Amino acid sequence: MTDFKYIIIGAGMMGSAAARHLSQMTDGVALIGPAEPADRKNHRGVFASHYDEARITRGFDGDRIWGTLAVRSLARYAEIEAASGIPFYSEVGCLFTGEAPVSDASYVSRALTNSAKLGLQIQAIKPDAVPERFPMFALPSEHHGYFEARNAGYVNPRALVRAQVVIAEKQGVTVLRQTATRVRNDAGHVLVETADGNSYTADKVLVAAGGFTNMAEILPRPVDMAATGRTIVFFELDEAKQALFKGMPSTIVLADNDDDVVYILPPVRYPDGKVYLKIGGEGEKGALSSLNEAVSWFQSDGSLGEVDYLTKRALSLMPDLAGAPVTSGSCVASITKTGYPYIGYTDAPNIAVLTGGNFVAAKSSDEIGRLGAQLLFDGALQEREFAAAMNPVFI
Ligand SMILES: Cc1cc2nc3c(=O)[nH]c(=O)nc-3n(C[C@H](O)[C@H](O)[C@H](O)COP(=O)(O)OP(=O)(O)OC[C@H]3O[C@@H](n4cnc5c(N)ncnc54)[C@H](O)[C@@H]3O)c2cc1C
Repeated sequence: MTDFKYIIIGAGMMGSAAARHLSQMTDGVALIGPAEPADRKNHRGVFASHYDEARITRGFDGDRIWGTLAVRSLARYAEIEAASGIPFYSEVGCLFTGEAPVSDASYVSRALTNSAKLGLQIQAIKPDAVPERFPMFALPSEHHGYFEARNAGYVNPRALVRAQVVIAEKQGVTVLRQTATRVRNDAGHVLVETADGNSYTADKVLVAAGGFTNMAEILPRPVDMAATGRTIVFFELDEAKQALFKGMPSTIVLADNDDDVVYILPPVRYPDGKVYLKIGGEGEKGALSSLNEAVSWFQSDGSLGEVDYLTKRALSLMPDLAGAPVTSGSCVASITKTGYPYIGYTDAPNIAVLTGGNFVAAKSSDEIGRLGAQLLFDGALQEREFAAAMNPVFI
């Protein structure tokens, strides 16, 4: 007799969603994972990639699978908000800007094709109309706009995780605020050991530990995934500046070189009571290879060079930011070999993995979590059209 039928390790965006979905299908579910550390600068354990107040959400995507995961998740936001009593979604729209696509293979062409297939409403805005429509930007004069007004904007990732956990608990999930240190097969069941010396057994385990998936002995073999440090820059806006950025959508500014793409969140109020506009980029590469390295990165304020680069990009795209106090932060993007999340079993038939957000999974975490739940409950993904794309790659 095991303690639980299923244990999910990692109470983050994917793990909490998996717990909610799995507990709609069965009893006997436990979710093991620590809450957000109260003192980030001195915390020595694991962190998460969702300790923030805003993540862009949108259906417009150059990749059909990612677009599908987002659209399916967006369709359930209202239901999750209602069932949990926790609001997390702001429908401020999402704007992509960039030069006219040069071929059918261009990101925008692919995204427009996918949008038509997914039934999304995308407004194409000519370069000369962009400044009047979005006066907070000083974009390159040849930039077109592609605006998704409905079912797009941002989610508060902390609040979304809270909402998933609240519903999961209501549905009978046992939430254990502990950190798993070891997972192994033991006499036909799986044994999970935690940092505070406890151990729990289950018939099956799903490891959803985000960027920390390879940083403890919680998988029989590591997944082929890079935990990449990413820097974020915040501009603190006073009331006058907030007025200048009123009505701003979530925005992604495309560029010839993918490394120069930047994403921008509109003004959002943070727990310190202040309002910040946030910008981040995709240029940082490399991989944090150990727990110590990842902890040091999360305790830091990001890379100074990237802060400088992002600050300059922000001021050139939004000159009204001049004079706003600048701060920065650090986060981790989990980049897989396939570019898709890993949702599948390891060599052990009762230990599965759910990870690999690839810098874009907050918005889609509910559907990714549902797939993780299906994997545990049914033994395999049922989505014939894209199940194979989710196969994990192990080292
Ligand atoms: C700077 C930045 C900006 C981003 N912007 C966007 C955006 O605009 N839109 C978007 O859609 N996505 C965005 N993302 C991506 C998104 O935040 C991630 O894809 C998402 O958080 C991944 O979810 P996850 O559940 O895999 O990981 P996490 O949310 O990190 O959750 C993993 C959980 O596992 C727990 N854990 C780790 N190790 C253990 C262990 N040993 N035992 C128990 N628990 C453990 C952690 O405590 C954590 O709670 C961004 C990411 C970053 C870094």
